[in-house]
Amino acid sequence: MVSRVQNTTQPIVTRFAPSPTGYLHIGGARTALFNWLLARGAGGKFLLRIEDTDRQRSTEDATRAILDGLTWLGLDWDGAPVSQNANVRRHAEVVDELLAKGRAFRCYMTEEDAAAERQVAFSEGRALRSPWRDRPGSETPADTPFTVRFRAGDDDIIVEDAVQGDVRWKGKEFDDLVLLRSDGTPTYNLAVVADDHDMGITHIVRGDDHLVNAARQAQIYDALGWQRPVFAHVPLIHGPDGKKLSKRHGALGIEAYRDLGYLPEGLRNYLLRLGWSHGDQEYFTDAEAQAVFSLSGLNKAPGRLDFDKMASVNAHHMKLADNARLLELVSPWCEKLAEGLDTGSTAFRARLLAAMDVLKTRASTLAELAEQAYFLFRPVPIVLEGKAAKPLNGDAPELLARLLPRLEALPHWASAPLHAELEAFTEAESIGFGKIGAPLRAALTGGAPAPDLSLVMEWLGRDEVLRRMADQIKTGV
Ligand code: GLU
Repeated sequence: MVSRVQNTTQPIVTRFAPSPTGYLHIGGARTALFNWLLARGAGGKFLLRIEDTDRQRSTEDATRAILDGLTWLGLDWDGAPVSQNANVRRHAEVVDELLAKGRAFRCYMTEEDAAAERQVAFSEGRALRSPWRDRPGSETPADTPFTVRFRAGDDDIIVEDAVQGDVRWKGKEFDDLVLLRSDGTPTYNLAVVADDHDMGITHIVRGDDHLVNAARQAQIYDALGWQRPVFAHVPLIHGPDGKKLSKRHGALGIEAYRDLGYLPEGLRNYLLRLGWSHGDQEYFTDAEAQAVFSLSGLNKAPGRLDFDKMASVNAHHMKLADNARLLELVSPWCEKLAEGLDTGSTAFRARLLAAMDVLKTRASTLAELAEQAYFLFRPVPIVLEGKAAKPLNGDAPELLARLLPRLEALPHWASAPLHAELEAFTEAESIGFGKIGAPLRAALTGGAPAPDLSLVMEWLGRDEVLRRMADQIKTGV
């Protein structure tokens, strides 16, 4: 058996190998993330291979969606993506190599023959073995279609998995696997081994639904005398109810999380922790994650999707995010809240940037950030109705009318002098703060969520504050 212990001086090369039949699944995204971290942390390479040999199901759109998803998530790959389908000739060459070594053989069973053999094998408690495996070449019929099958061995197969430990199968559990179909196209496990070998893959992290494939692939590696890569099969993600993740749990594609307003780094951090741990550390920057990521931290038990947790991890990254970047990211969300809003305008940008340090601590997603910021850009005049208009009942408009000239006269427009002026006003009027605070808040924000009033006034700026107050004074008197 070829040693599976990796030479430590060998640079790490990992890959992500999606089948382009849909979108980038959240589980696939996590697999890609693990492989990316392993490579990036070691200064190795992270390669991408599109497993597009199923010509019926593979589409260009799906490939694009997967590349877009990875790009959005910030998982950059090295070199151009490899198309598995482009390698079919090479796959056939590898099959020839196995034939030459006597580890594969031509099999002339028809489908009916195979079905009958399978029945016999089943009744004997073993997997199918082709009667052609030991026939001498002289007996092979001419001009008859054949498949090429792997000559399964009788020995136990052991995969030393970095997550699952040593996993053992009995040799008789494996049939003589078809490597090349009668139309000359390679089958899945053969193609994967050939490509992984040729791409120099040293470590394969993937879902544990591929564990049995690893046993098949390990046999092919060994038969070719190729060094097996390190395998790490991670448990699949489960839904909040502990059941295997499915559509009924909600969003499965990575783009759905982008469209809910998660930050890529927030989702990266969440997915990292969903299946991997490093002590009890919850939050990781990329640099931290790359520095400490290792296969030994991968969990054996499946992680459960927890949307509250996802939001709180994202909230942490919202706080760390650069304000100018957040402004760009939140702008489309703001446009959704206020029709016709010009997010390129100086006023919009200045207000949001001024408020960003505070607002970003109050939102767990970009969608929430836009809601938090709404008062800064909502259409004016603000029309207050029903409950929202209540704070402006009674003598509130007169109070606002008396406050307005005092604010207008303030020499310096900033939260501290504004706060002091509001206090001075309540004293002069002999009223509690709420008496002016509530109508002022209604006039300035329309009741939308907003932090401290004097900050709200600073961010809106003098002209806008006076204008919004005047609007309500006009309506009220
Ligand atoms: N194409 C396979 C999938 O999408 C992955 C194969 C592999 O990682 O070896 O599940």
